[in-house]
Formats: sequence, C-alpha cells, structure tokens
Amino acid sequence: MGPGDTTPENRNVVRDRNRAAVLGAIVTKGPIARSELAELTGLSQGAVTKVVAPMIEAGYVVEQEGSSTGAGRPRVPLSVRPDRRFAVGVKVMEREIIGVVVDLSGRVVAQQRSRLESTEVATVVAGTGDLVRRLLAEDDTFGSRTFDLGVGLAGQIDNDHRTLRSSAMLNWQSVPLGALMEAETGLRTVVENDVNTLAVAELWFGAGVDMPWFAVVTLGAGIGSALVLDGRVVAGARGAAGELGHLVVAPGGRSCRCGNRGCLETIASDPAILASIAEAGGPADLDIAGAAELARRGDATAAAAFARAGAALGSGIAALANLVNPERIILSGEGIVASDLLLSAVRETFAAQTLPTGGAYELLLRPLPDETWARGAAAVALQGIFTGGSNLPGPTRTA
Ligand SMILES: [Zn+2]
Repeated sequence: MGPGDTTPENRNVVRDRNRAAVLGAIVTKGPIARSELAELTGLSQGAVTKVVAPMIEAGYVVEQEGSSTGAGRPRVPLSVRPDRRFAVGVKVMEREIIGVVVDLSGRVVAQQRSRLESTEVATVVAGTGDLVRRLLAEDDTFGSRTFDLGVGLAGQIDNDHRTLRSSAMLNWQSVPLGALMEAETGLRTVVENDVNTLAVAELWFGAGVDMPWFAVVTLGAGIGSALVLDGRVVAGARGAAGELGHLVVAPGGRSCRCGNRGCLETIASDPAILASIAEAGGPADLDIAGAAELARRGDATAAAAFARAGAALGSGIAALANLVNPERIILSGEGIVASDLLLSAVRETFAAQTLPTGGAYELLLRPLPDETWARGAAAVALQGIFTGGSNLPGPTRTA
C-alpha cells in the first residue's frame, strides 16, 4: 500500500489514523479549537473539520457553546464527552484483583477489589468476571457504554496482547488470557504488562502528556521498567523489553529468581533490602515501611542497606538513560515509600554514570496508589480508540 493508493481500504485506514490523531489530541489537550488541532496534527483545517463531524454526531466530542476569544473569528473549543464510553481495567496480583471503570478522560468513576483464593487460571478468570460484573452494575450507563477490558499483570505478554507468555508471580506459562477473559466477560480484552500499563496511563492522562521520551521505573517486590520512545510504549520483539530488574550490576553477586547472579533486583528490590538487613543481624520480620522507619531512626545497618540499594538503582537507571535518552524518568511502585532513603545514593551514582547530553535528566517521584495500575490497564483498553485500533460504535460509523 503506497502513498498513491486510493483504494477504499486505504482511504479508511488514513481516515482512521487522522480520526485517531484528532481524538487523541482532543483527549489530551481539550478543550481545543479546530485550528489548534490542525496545527498539532499537521492536518488541514478542512480535514480536521471532516473527521470531527462524525465524532460530534456520535457523541464522543462536544462543542463548547458560546466560547469566543473576543475580537476576531469565534473559536469553538472541542472537548471529549467523558461519559460517552467507558472501559474496565483490572490489575491481577498474587492475592487480589483490583478493578476500575474509567471514562474517556481517564477518570476513575468506579473501583472495587476482590480477594483471590488461588492463582489458578480458572480462579483468576472467574474472579475477574465477578469483579467486572459488579463494577458494571454500579451505574446504569456502564453496561451499555462499556466494550473494552484491559488486564494488567506482572509478566511477559505476546505482542498480540492476547497471550501471556510467562509470569513468575502467578507461575503461569502460555495462557490465552485475552480469549479466556473475553469469553468470561463479553468485553473485548487486551492484556498488557503491568508496568507498561502505568506508562500508557502516564502517556495519555498523566506525567507523560507532551513527553514523547520517558521511562517508568517501578520499585517493590521486583524492579520493572517501561520505555516510551517517540510517543510509543516499546514492547520489544517478544514483548520482553524493559527488564531493568535483571540488569547485572554486581557480577557474581547473589542469585536471582531469574537464574542469574547479581541482578539489580538482588540488591534493590524490597525483599533484597529486607534480606540484607536481616543478614547483617537486624530484625528479620520487617516489611519495607518498617525497614524504612528503622533507617530513619538512625539504624546504621538499615540505612546502609537502603544506600546500597539506591546506588545500584542509580547505576541501573543510568544504563537505561545512556541507552535510550529519555527526557524524564518516573519512579513509582510501592517501594518508593522509602524514596527519602534511596534518592541521594540514586542521584549520586546516576550523575556519575550518565553521559552529558546537553540537558538534564529529570527524575520524577510518583507515589501512585494501586488503583493507578488498574486505571493504566483501562487506558490500554481505551488506547485503541485514540490510536485507530478500534472503531467508535455509535449512530454514525466513521470507518
Ligand atoms: Zn535476575
């Protein structure tokens, strides 16, 4: 299909892409005038008007009445109508599922949690089905305006976003999770690595809007990362990009759950920090918040464990920065409750090990609650509408 191809299929693809670009810009920048949309997307004003009309008719976009900038031509800003469509996002964890309903503006409009009795595939699928039905029952409009489900979990996901290849947390291999969830819920389902879901949420609705180059690094039971390069989350050829936790920073060091030795996770994950405190004669029954408290009260062993973790983390993030040169590095995950104890060491090694690039890297701390991960999964499900991957249902077909 070349640029001169004017077959109906090609015209539809182009129109879809234009529509998605315009809708995406209205979602992230709205309220916004047609002229600004043209400038942002590189489309002519006529083309913008043409793709916006069916979106208005289908109720996805609304014109703000009576708006004007005073002198000159009136500008009628456009914004998305948030409650025109919803998506459900769930985050599957070892013992719990968190679910949210999110509107078109990325706002969480309902949230619920559900305990998991086991991590058997059938239990998780049935539990998710229950949770989705409970969520959709919360409001009359949810049932008729929800078509998409995003499922986020720790693991490697095939690039079709349907099959979970492996998850150490759940002890799963090759699970056709998308198909199973669709059969259970009746919603079109996309499956995504949980750190990538956070990146997608930041890209559309958070600290990544207007930021085409950024990385998300999560601290906690493991260490994960997601890379957004030139405005897209990078999955890798096999969906396995971003395994920052398994970067070897201490060759020959402690053995890691991946089978290797000296991975970043063996020094800087929450369990590694706790193990290091216990091995040095400190208490063995702490959680990460307790360990942080101990260090803040002046315990030298605990403080040293955090400092070591921070230094290793700084090295790992520096490697990431040197490779892909993000503008911003967002630190999140439950492990950042101890960020005050980690950060000075992180900054020190990071500064020492990154090459000068003519501009500073920004390290941004984002204490995001658990629901944010589920919101990210919903954002992944909605993303198809903003990028042209799925049609807008409604009275007027746009493709
Ligand atoms: Zn490892």
